[in-house]
Order: sequence, then structure tokens, then C-alpha cells
Amino acid sequence: MGFSANILTLYPEMFPGPLGQSLSGKALEKGLWGLETTQVRDFAKDKHRSVDDTPAGGGAGMVLRADILALAIDAVAKPDDPRPRLLMSPRGLPFTQKRAHELAEGPGAIIVCGRFEGIDQRVIDSRQLEEVCIGDYILSGGEIAAITMLDAIVRLIPGVMGNMESADTESFETGLLEHPHYTRPSEFEGMAIPEVLTSGNHKKIHDWRLAEAERITRERRPDLWSRYVCDEDEVD
Ligand code: SAH
Repeated sequence: MGFSANILTLYPEMFPGPLGQSLSGKALEKGLWGLETTQVRDFAKDKHRSVDDTPAGGGAGMVLRADILALAIDAVAKPDDPRPRLLMSPRGLPFTQKRAHELAEGPGAIIVCGRFEGIDQRVIDSRQLEEVCIGDYILSGGEIAAITMLDAIVRLIPGVMGNMESADTESFETGLLEHPHYTRPSEFEGMAIPEVLTSGNHKKIHDWRLAEAERITRERRPDLWSRYVCDEDEVD
């Protein structure tokens, strides 16, 4: 078995969710990747099965308890389990296409989904959880963040996508955002397809696509553009 994920969550019924559809769903059925969920509440000790409590020091909201989460993590992640332990968290390093590739090549991941205000810091420290952020906004829980991250990873696993070549030119793979796409009909509401694309001249098509990718990246993402220009200088 290659990539296999175990998700620690209070909402296991959210999985596989969208990952059970389309290419990732077919690949899951075929066993190209694996997905398990662990209900954190099963590790609660009291009769109400409570998993959260009020924040030390006061303030709004609730915090997931360290002891219960640690029991759940220890039940899933045995000492010889090579999988990285990730915690979905707005405080983490931003998740990137590069990280998606690294994870897709590895044995999988143990993924902890936060809820409420987040989780007790002591379980992050003691279980060496690596915090991962999917973007600069706040979701109500880690589940959708985990699904988003897994979708980006799973499509990179060999055999999941029909046409691996199409992945190579995609936005973030080349350091550039991708060029625009066109298909039939040849005229839509008075707009034609750029002539070069129907010319059959592969060199010209390649050059046009590169120029468009560069223009779009320069206009929309100065951060990506300056890194791209910098990398080009290094190559020279
Ligand atoms: N109080 C926290 C936010 C808690 S949101 C803070 O200010 O940092 C509740 C849970 O949703 C988090 O524990 C985390 O698991 C998940 N979450 C929310 N936004 C996220 C993001 N951008 N990336 C990854 N996980 C996120």
C-alpha cells in the first residue's frame, strides 16, 4: 500500500465526502490510496463523552482536551508508524504544491482536525504535530481543510489521474499560473478562439502559451512573478 491517511476527527461521517467521487473516489475503490477515520469522541472518559473544555485564562469558545486527543493519536500512530502527523491549523506553514508532491510520494499521513478554538498546545508539543494551513482564512473545523489537502495530494499519486502530462503544466508546477484554455465551439457569442491555437504550429502555440502564462502571473501574482524571474536569473 502506498499513501494511506488516517483522519482524527469529531465528524468521521464527513469522509470520504467529495474524495469518494470522481478520480479520487475511483482510485480509493481500486486501492491506489487508503483512508481511515478515527472518532476522537470514542476516547472520552465521562458518560457525556465530552472532548472539550473552557480555555485556561478565560476567553471565548472551547478547546479540545490534550488527554483525550493524545489517547486517540497514540491508538492510531504506533511508534514505528512512519507517517507524518499533521494538524490542520491556521498557524501552520502554508500548504503548497511542493508539499503535496512530498506527501504523495510518502507512506501517507495522520491528520488531526481541530474544532472550536483549537486544541491544547501540550498535545501539539508532546505528539510532535506539524501544523499545516491551507490558506489565510478561518474555517470552522479541520475536516474541510484536510479534504482539500488530501485532494491535492491524491491526484498526484501515480495512476489516479488519467493524463499525468496535464499535471506538469498546471499552475504552481512551473512557477507560473497556467495559460487560458479554449475548446469548441470555434465561435462563442461573437468571440473566436485565438488564431495561433488553430494554426497547428506547435512552436508558436508553445510560445503563445508561455507568454500568456507569464502575463497572467505578472498581473495577478507579483509574489510568484518575482520568484519566477529570480529563478530564471539563477539558471542563466
Ligand atoms: N482559534 C483558531 C482558529 C480555530 S478554527 C485560530 O485563531 O488560529 C477551528 C479549527 O479549524 C482549527 O483548529 C483547524 O483545525 C481548522 N482550521 C481553520 N482554519 C484553517 C486553515 N486556514 N487551515 C487549516 N486548518 C484550519
